[in-house]
Amino acid sequence: MKLALASLLAYTASAFGPSTAPPSAHARKPLISGNWKLNPQTKEEALTLARGIASAITDSTPDVDVALFVPYVFIESTMSVVGGKLSVGAEGVCPHSNGAYTGGISTSMIKSIGVDWVLAGHSERREIFGETDYYINAQCLKILDEGMSVMLCIGESLAEFEADLAGSVCATQLKKGLKGVRKEDLDRVAIAYEPVWAIGTGKVATPEIAQSVHAKCRDILAGMYDRETANMIRILYGGSVTPDSIDDLMAMPDIDGALVGGASLDINKFGRIVNFNKAGSLAPAN
Ligand code: PEP
Repeated sequence: MKLALASLLAYTASAFGPSTAPPSAHARKPLISGNWKLNPQTKEEALTLARGIASAITDSTPDVDVALFVPYVFIESTMSVVGGKLSVGAEGVCPHSNGAYTGGISTSMIKSIGVDWVLAGHSERREIFGETDYYINAQCLKILDEGMSVMLCIGESLAEFEADLAGSVCATQLKKGLKGVRKEDLDRVAIAYEPVWAIGTGKVATPEIAQSVHAKCRDILAGMYDRETANMIRILYGGSVTPDSIDDLMAMPDIDGALVGGASLDINKFGRIVNFNKAGSLAPAN
């Protein structure tokens, strides 16, 4: 997939209007999360990776929540080696409670093994597995009903990005994905803005582009609920995040964390991402 640098550079924050960055009174605790997808290939590798990531979280790590979304079969063993330093979540869930859904995993199943975070709406689930906004909404509602937290992924394709449709695509996905979600449950909701053109491509959005979409998403949430509620919801950026990009992304006022795919499979890279420098890459290291 070829993404013209010129189109990235031409895409300015002005496309989305002024930032709605909240005042510091609305400080949101950062959340850095990893998505292992269909990796690693063995339990031994998974545990080595999990142990390494946990050991990168030290007393000098910023005040941050860390979550790893891992394949179902590794959830319990991963939990057992991370010493409570991070949450171990599921990469998805079947929105049905029980019955004839071969291969499905229900919310009560994963809740019963201690899971508290579940991913929904990842672009790979939308594109490869055909999950619709309607299905994703059913997942979100079921996850919240079960008392767990959901990270709802949204984001536009390359064609939509180039047509200046990022804001409207995110608005649609937010409104459909969160349909029927009660305001009082939103403290268990995080949004991951993941432009599809940035996932797994090495083409990370610039901090300015990501910030402008995040601000727009916060405006949309304010319209759906209210400004105070919108200011409390964590909006993460996802798409080719690496140690080289995390600091400047986290320096943006509406970027509250990251959802990291490829780099979450590397202890050194994910360890550095967790230990980001909120002041940006030009500031002295922590
Ligand atoms: C992801 O899978 O959500 C993701 C952002 O992947 P990557 O970091 O590899 O682009």
